Amino acid sequence: MSGMGARNLNRGSILIVEDDGIIAAHLQDTLTRLGYVVPEPVATGEAALAAVAAAPPDLALMDIQLAGAMDGVTAAEHIRAAFDIPVVYLTAFTQDAQLQQAKATAPYGYLVKPAPERELLATLEMALHKHSLDRRLRQSEEWLALALWGADLGIWDRNIRTSTVLYSGRWAEILGYGLTDIAPNYASWEARVHPDDLPAMREAFNAHLENRAPFYESEHRLRHKDGHWIWVQAKGKVTERDPEGCPLRACGVLLDISERKRLEEGLRQLAATDPLTGVFNRRYFLQSIHQEISRAQRYARPLTLIMFDIDYFKRINDTFGHEQGDEVLKSTTARVRQRLRRNDVFARWGGEEFMILAIETALPQAVALAETLWAALRDAPFAGIGTVTASFGVTEYQPDETLDQWLKRVDDLTYQAKSRGRDRVCHSGESAG
Ligand code: GH3
Ligand code: MG
Ligand code: MG
Repeated sequence: MSGMGARNLNRGSILIVEDDGIIAAHLQDTLTRLGYVVPEPVATGEAALAAVAAAPPDLALMDIQLAGAMDGVTAAEHIRAAFDIPVVYLTAFTQDAQLQQAKATAPYGYLVKPAPERELLATLEMALHKHSLDRRLRQSEEWLALALWGADLGIWDRNIRTSTVLYSGRWAEILGYGLTDIAPNYASWEARVHPDDLPAMREAFNAHLENRAPFYESEHRLRHKDGHWIWVQAKGKVTERDPEGCPLRACGVLLDISERKRLEEGLRQLAATDPLTGVFNRRYFLQSIHQEISRAQRYARPLTLIMFDIDYFKRINDTFGHEQGDEVLKSTTARVRQRLRRNDVFARWGGEEFMILAIETALPQAVALAETLWAALRDAPFAGIGTVTASFGVTEYQPDETLDQWLKRVDDLTYQAKSRGRDRVCHSGESAG
């Protein structure tokens, strides 16, 4: 009955390599009774290699001293190298020197002959178990290496108390360095962060350390070995805490996102600008004007709108063609742009209508600016076209008025400039009439 039960265990297959026929036959009987699949034992190293090649067993039970030219240690070496099959040695007490040699082949166990049945079972089960763990570990290491390679991820492993950080080769490579060029500490990282990004990066890390965020995530710029900035995304988690819950260790990944940032920046530009003239579009202008109004109100700073519309533009199109009309639009915006300050927001409002949001500027300065622009247009004729003029409206933001009220006033003033004969600046400071 117990024999039947044991056979159903299906413990795996074991190749016996033993030149003593009596011992071999006895082992075969015992192991079969214990539930292993045991092929016909072989007596030489050469035969062992042939048997393994023909039908790889789960484990080889290998006598160290064999009859043929090849001893057990050499055979074990071949089996391990070529087939990833665990080997358990059978030894005699007298084989000390060979035992030393055998150690070098990283066996999964030794059995001293004659081995009691319980010891035999325990050693073989332990060897099979350990080998399956080794195999799984190796597999997950391979998968991890593949995933990191495929995702282009660098790894960092930070000891929070000592501030030592282990960086992977890819981490260093993202910044143009070899692994040995990066000192294994946190300063190596922070010293390379763009100063504008450092506070947010620290805050993101602290938020996670203090359990305010489920993980750490930061997009920041790091200085490449060549001196230029690259964008990276760092992500990570605390992996060890002390019994009080204080973080001890955090690990994570680093990814080069420079290309994504470039694309995003390009899209942002595209979405904000007018393709013909390169100045901001109406949508972007409306976004900024809301922000600037609230800032102007909060700090009680002046804010002024300048609108202008090119005079008789339809005539330019009709006389010189639409393409020449486009050229006039481009040169006009170029002339205007040169004369604005960095912070002023210049946008194409419609076909040949433009808006300038003059930041921190009260009416008199804005009128002066509008007159400069007006002169810059009319005083230098356009090549092949002649003089082009424009009509300007200028008005300052009044506390608590709505955006629509303000926009209507600047539009009315521009219309007023048109109706008074074009080629002039009208502003809300002059008496009507
Ligand atoms: P006013 O002095 O009253 O402003 O007269 P105007 O001819 O400038 O104004 P109107 O609104 O009658 O005509 C504007 C013209 O601008 C009509 C339109 O075809 C032209 N336009 C609008 N967008 C573009 C453009 O992108 N390129 C060119 N070439 N023409 C444009
Ligand atoms: Mg016009
Ligand atoms: Mg118009």
